[in-house]
Amino acid sequence: MTTEERITNALKSATDTKVFKMGKNILHLVPQTFKELFPGRTAIIVADKNTWRVAGEQVFELMQKSSIECGVFLFPESEFHADWDHIQTIDALLDQTGSVAISVGSGTINDLCKLTAHHHHQSYLSVATAASVDGYTSFGASITYEGLKQTFECPAPIALIADIDIIAKAPKEMTAAGYADLAAKIPAGAEWMIADLFGTEPIIPEAWHMLQDVLDEMLSDPEGVAAGKTEAIGALFEGLTLSGFAMQAARSSRPASCTDHLFSHFLDMTGHRFKGKLQSHGFQVAIGTLTMCAFFDEFLKLDLTKLDVDKCVEKWPSLESEQKRAEKLFRNFVNPKLGVAEITSKYSDKEGVREQLTKVRNEWPQLKKKYRQQVYTFEKMQRLFKIVGAPSDPSEIGVSRQKLREIVPYAQLMRARINLLDLAKRAEIYDYLVDKVFGPEGSWSTSSEK
Ligand SMILES: [Zn+2]
Repeated sequence: MTTEERITNALKSATDTKVFKMGKNILHLVPQTFKELFPGRTAIIVADKNTWRVAGEQVFELMQKSSIECGVFLFPESEFHADWDHIQTIDALLDQTGSVAISVGSGTINDLCKLTAHHHHQSYLSVATAASVDGYTSFGASITYEGLKQTFECPAPIALIADIDIIAKAPKEMTAAGYADLAAKIPAGAEWMIADLFGTEPIIPEAWHMLQDVLDEMLSDPEGVAAGKTEAIGALFEGLTLSGFAMQAARSSRPASCTDHLFSHFLDMTGHRFKGKLQSHGFQVAIGTLTMCAFFDEFLKLDLTKLDVDKCVEKWPSLESEQKRAEKLFRNFVNPKLGVAEITSKYSDKEGVREQLTKVRNEWPQLKKKYRQQVYTFEKMQRLFKIVGAPSDPSEIGVSRQKLREIVPYAQLMRARINLLDLAKRAEIYDYLVDKVFGPEGSWSTSSEK
């Protein structure tokens, strides 16, 4: 399939986005697209100083030439995040002007426009300036509200315009972050397979194939991505956009994230900073992704055909004791009830666990083959990240391996989504895997801490 065919097909399954244009020097498409989708409406460009310089100003001139009334809002700060006060600012702006937003920027500006558009029961047009996240076309916006980073449900933009010449010139770290965000879909896919096996979240074929069938190809040129080659950047951007469409089709972020992302959410929720700066979503996700690849490496070395299901079922804790464990762990956390809520919703009783583990034991040879085909080894993923310029060691985002090890139990408990760590808990191999990954011979050996 050509890029165009893939996009046409994906747009059919995408529930929110109707127009996706990607190509070189295509900003001139903005006014026409705006006119068609929002006839008779006025526009307001939302940008920051950088995105104004690289694309916003040009979009503004094009809108004026097309005689579409267009205002401008520029964020004055050089570093700003998707905080609730910015939501209020843009909400007020849309109230006052009655306009439709044109988001010119990447993750933060897009998420701010996405949620505020939803507040006004309208959509918006997004002009992408970096291949840094999969969130352009995802269902939901990640916003910090009362100190907690939360995903607010809201539709993706009706139109996304991606000028690859502009995107290819974005800062290298942003593109590397986007590459890692896309690479996370590798272990996330394998964890979705586990949830599918357990019957908790069955794989949705159209969402799965849309992304997973092309994922290897879109990750295959890290050198090109690092060099800013437009073809490689185009493939990366397409992969990120397809991730968004897959989330729209699934009405959930399951196709695009699992435990790999929870390490990042933990760091967000605890206000982690390195050298005084919040770390990018993609950079944090890079470390979560590598960690999950390391877990899969150790998991796939095991022979579970002899798994003692009876013994595991006998040892399986009651819901009450799992809730106590979660309560204790999250006691001093910013959201102390999170663990209890999530573990309660994904708890299985003894019979459920027996069924799940019997499947694992009986199907192990095929499962092992299937998971190995899906997940890259830690070594391969680390090599790709080194080439592309994404973090290959937690120290690069200011997290020690010991700290990373301490995050693992939170990652297991902080989302109702079934993951590899849940399987490991049920099969009594959780402690073993943690010791292997962080032990003397492990990928994240704490004794050889950098
Ligand atoms: Zn992500």
